Amino acid sequence: MAVDFQQLAVEGVRGLMPYQPGKPIDELARELGLKEADIVKLASNENPLGPSPKALAAIQAELADLTRYPDGAGFELKKALCNKLSTDAYNIGPEQITLGNGSSDILDFITRVFVNDGDDVVVSQHAFAIYGLVARMVGAHCIAAPAKNYGHDLDAMLAAITEKTRIVFITNPNNPTGTWLGKTELVNFLDQVPENVLVLLDEAYFEYVNEADFPDGIELLPHYPNLVITRTFSKAYGLASLRVGYGVSSPELADLLNRVRPPFNVDSFALAAATAALTDDDYVAQSIAINNAGMQQLTAAFKALELSFIPSVGNFVAFRVPDGVNAMDVYKQLLARGVIVRPVANYEMPEYLRVSIGTEAENTAFIYALTAVLS
Ligand SMILES: *Cc1c(COP(=O)(O)O)cnc(C)c1O
Repeated sequence: MAVDFQQLAVEGVRGLMPYQPGKPIDELARELGLKEADIVKLASNENPLGPSPKALAAIQAELADLTRYPDGAGFELKKALCNKLSTDAYNIGPEQITLGNGSSDILDFITRVFVNDGDDVVVSQHAFAIYGLVARMVGAHCIAAPAKNYGHDLDAMLAAITEKTRIVFITNPNNPTGTWLGKTELVNFLDQVPENVLVLLDEAYFEYVNEADFPDGIELLPHYPNLVITRTFSKAYGLASLRVGYGVSSPELADLLNRVRPPFNVDSFALAAATAALTDDDYVAQSIAINNAGMQQLTAAFKALELSFIPSVGNFVAFRVPDGVNAMDVYKQLLARGVIVRPVANYEMPEYLRVSIGTEAENTAFIYALTAVLS
């Protein structure tokens, strides 16, 4: 008898569906027989500006040390992060930081530290897919509270917390909807979450938001010992391929998270590039300016095409295909024209597609292709 390895796999893994990333450029180029340069990828909320020159120079300088293990403690990057994050009102120390191979790593760590088989985590409907994935991996249930106008309904999330709940995942702003929570409502929520339930506040798109009442999670940390903030270098800092992100929390929580962190989870290029990118304020400012202009360009086009979209403060926007039109068909027809966007049916938004903000030329190519597909 052949061994049934499916049955040998731990229960949480047996039913797991892998994360579906945006379609890679080289894959579509192969399929269509096109050059990579002819393809526009607006599918993974990547920074269209290309990497910071400072980050590139830092990587060059690391090449000679390729034979050495990276600094497992991430001393220089943590020091640079503490400089960046500390203010007159609060001081962030290196003992509060957990470095991740992408901020997704931190989502995995917090789950492995705090969630047992049979426990619950609470997310919002339309939330980032990784939360459910890491929870199911350890045999936990992922409870999705119904959304309100596509955004988090914090009262519904509070109501979903039970004795078995270990973590509540909040994404601000949320991906793929681009919706956001104000400081007043977030603080009101944090005040009501039981002290023994962790709150993971995922701020992957923090740098892009320019709203008066938008909360800075770091500022809230001193008041909520159960709070963990995650941020990333994958989006506004333009280093998605290098895989580097971080968690900020109390030293006690950081100590626990670091116990399950693989010793060299962030490589020397990522450490050096992220440290350098943190000093490149011009790059981040330019990235935000491109994003603001691109958001204007895309939303104006949606209005002209009479397509509804969810107002977004991130570097992406979800738009609704016209009634009677199948979003997956639109996605495939855009692919055939060399434009990659992201289907979001797996986020319970089957009539939507998500498009990342690109350069002006990329946005124009997308609008041109979309107009052709819909006409
Ligand atoms: C892109 C994204 C991240 C960042 O992932 P990395 O692992 O840091 O690349 C985290 N959370 C959300 C909601 C995201 O959209």
